Amino acid sequence: MHIRTLAALASAALIAAACVKVPYTGRKQLNVIPDKLMNGLGKQSYSGMLQGVTVKKKGSESAVLTRVGREISRVANKPDFDWQFAMIEDPALNAWCLPGGYIGFYTGILPVLKNEAGMAFVMGHEVGHATARHGSERLSQNLAVMGGLAGINLILSGNKKMNDQQRGIVMGALGLGAQYGVMLPFSRAHETEADVIGTMYMANAGYPPAEGIKVWERMAEQAGAQPPEFMSTHPAHDRRQANIREWLPQARKRYERNRIDRDTLETLWGR
Ligand SMILES: [Zn+2]
Repeated sequence: MHIRTLAALASAALIAAACVKVPYTGRKQLNVIPDKLMNGLGKQSYSGMLQGVTVKKKGSESAVLTRVGREISRVANKPDFDWQFAMIEDPALNAWCLPGGYIGFYTGILPVLKNEAGMAFVMGHEVGHATARHGSERLSQNLAVMGGLAGINLILSGNKKMNDQQRGIVMGALGLGAQYGVMLPFSRAHETEADVIGTMYMANAGYPPAEGIKVWERMAEQAGAQPPEFMSTHPAHDRRQANIREWLPQARKRYERNRIDRDTLETLWGR
């Protein structure tokens, strides 16, 4: 890599570090990895995640996913994101959004979502992790192991294949650790923040925000029967329900202004 490229990356990182604020919560964060690199890692990881799985391209599940995805991505207002949505045939109770707007939902989580509004909450939550740059914050902690920004850039430019350790760290930071045997749970602060952003996104998109609390109730009911993959990385349900309740009055106002003119609480999946 040229020294000039390195210098440009370093100054980009400094500029980013100086002025990044998290949506809605207003938390200031130290962001040392440029969005361009994170979005590139997201894109690369997305194609990896879709290898060897069945992606449902037809049918009502993927149609609803695309519809909710369009609504949430519209209010997330990230022109640099290349939004993609994949409905993956898999019993896992899981969903994710990678930096750059690459979203995966597993069919196993559908009964917990139950309806379009439930899906909008979980998508808002996952998109919230991406727009609040939580992956970037977590990867920053392991940047040295990656060989710094230059290391990430080399991996992205295809000069070097990711080794297992690097792959584990990237995947873990992006929230895909369970699939790669590296658990890096999002901190309670990141989860709380993603719930707040998700509640605001769904309300701004016109979905009833109280459904977010119901999703966590249904998630708690499912916990006994299902492998707790999605839940083990998330804090206690009653705590997150209380957190969402605090933000509900503000979310309701947004919802009333933007509400979708059809029933988004109609049961689509599960009982
Ligand atoms: Zn989360």
